[in-house]
Amino acid sequence: MTIFNLGSINADHVYRVPHLPGPGETLAATSMQTGLGGKGANMSVAAARAGSHVAHIGAIGSDGIWARNRLLEYGVDTRHIAELDVPTGHAIINVDDAGENAITLFAGANQAISEDSVANVLSTGSTGDILVTQNETNAQSVAAKVGSKLGFRVCYAAAPFDAGAVKVVLPYLDFLILNAVEAKQLEQALGVSIEELDVADIIITLGSDGARWISEGVDQHFAAIKVDPVDTTGAGDTFTGYVLAGLDRGLTMGQSISLAMRAAALMVMRMGTADVIPDLKEVEAFSG
Ligand code: ADP
Repeated sequence: MTIFNLGSINADHVYRVPHLPGPGETLAATSMQTGLGGKGANMSVAAARAGSHVAHIGAIGSDGIWARNRLLEYGVDTRHIAELDVPTGHAIINVDDAGENAITLFAGANQAISEDSVANVLSTGSTGDILVTQNETNAQSVAAKVGSKLGFRVCYAAAPFDAGAVKVVLPYLDFLILNAVEAKQLEQALGVSIEELDVADIIITLGSDGARWISEGVDQHFAAIKVDPVDTTGAGDTFTGYVLAGLDRGLTMGQSISLAMRAAALMVMRMGTADVIPDLKEVEAFSG
């Protein structure tokens, strides 16, 4: 089976600064590192490293060829990543000595994906394939609609949270994955409690408290694996990629969540994002 991921691809430029710059201030960074990022790219890498065939649907500019190559190196099927005449999405991430950050995000090519090409790519899939999207690209609603019509299992990771974006895809979803803050925001926006949503499986990630799975007749808490966190960036994306890869391999939802919690726990012990997502062997060897 294939996991189609309509998702963002970003260059993450991380600058170490003595403190976060204030208005009008010019500040010298003590170091700079560029890595592969974007929620979409992170999820694709996680699911591919977990052993799934992942077809990433997205867009880059001519300055992002390296990012597409890196996805390919990590085992992602990159044939449906278009090269456009628009800059690649990027994030300027300032991190101070206390670990506090301030981020400027430029969506670039991530918001210029052709809706027709999304529909065309999905039409090459088959019933039972998985589609995942997040809220960092355009074309989410077309993807969800087409995916659902073709009998895919459709998953939405509601981040960065936008109530309007969730409402548009909600009728087509089989799986909804969101963190505790996003779950609260959704309840407020819709005026209903999360258990009342008409989505077959909902997972709320709870950081160091683990995760909660809500399904028909199920409301189950999974305790997180105890680790000393170093950097929680990308933990949620790794979790989602691993849950979907588990389902793709035929594991139950409970087994998939347990696998994903191990992958995410390993991830919080590492600095960085897509480049350090663990593979299945590491996850299976990790006793917690
Ligand atoms: P997001 O990064 O999207 O906000 P969370 O912070 O809820 O998502 O983290 C996603 C998952 O990563 C959690 O469900 C948990 O399995 C794992 N995780 C996150 N933080 C920790 C932690 N401090 N210790 C162990 N596991 C963690």
